[in-house]
Amino acid sequence: MSGLDSTYMVAFFVVFCLFFLVVPASYAPSDLLAPWPAGLRYECVNGNFGATHDIPFTYYAWDFEMPIGSEVLAASRGRVDFCGVTGTDGYGEQVRIKHPNGSYTLYAHLSAHAVYRGQQIRRGDVIGFSGNTGYSFTPHLHFAVIDRGNLSYPAAFLDIGIPVENGWYVSKNRRYHGRIEPVSR
Ligand SMILES: [Zn+2]
Repeated sequence: MSGLDSTYMVAFFVVFCLFFLVVPASYAPSDLLAPWPAGLRYECVNGNFGATHDIPFTYYAWDFEMPIGSEVLAASRGRVDFCGVTGTDGYGEQVRIKHPNGSYTLYAHLSAHAVYRGQQIRRGDVIGFSGNTGYSFTPHLHFAVIDRGNLSYPAAFLDIGIPVENGWYVSKNRRYHGRIEPVSR
């Protein structure tokens, strides 16, 4: 082995270790449930590293095919960090929820959002309705756990595990019907 090869190997090892130092093991919320109402069954048409999930922002995303207007539920509790269209990221109409552990969940290509910025959200709240907005060619929900820079991170759902392409999944996320307290800021 040449000196150059071993230098590369050491550099790779250091970067590899840094990744696990920088990314906490439990970055995603620990109580994630599928982002649609319990009992409904949808197909994952694009999984982690799937066809359109080929850049770091989307590596760990999932696309669930669903009819336009389907209810989209919060996968975990938190506070609405953003809702609407940025116009620059291809996600179209989107909702981003910030969770207590500092991570965010992203719900994209919606037809409409049903929340306002700063709103406290319970798991199971209807946060919007699925659609086909932004960089999307078929009605679907794009879901990912992200950081504040929109980088995607590995995650697993309590009810449906880690969905794979062409798998069908039944949610156990009970739609929340209670009153939402407004947030004073
Ligand atoms: Zn996607």
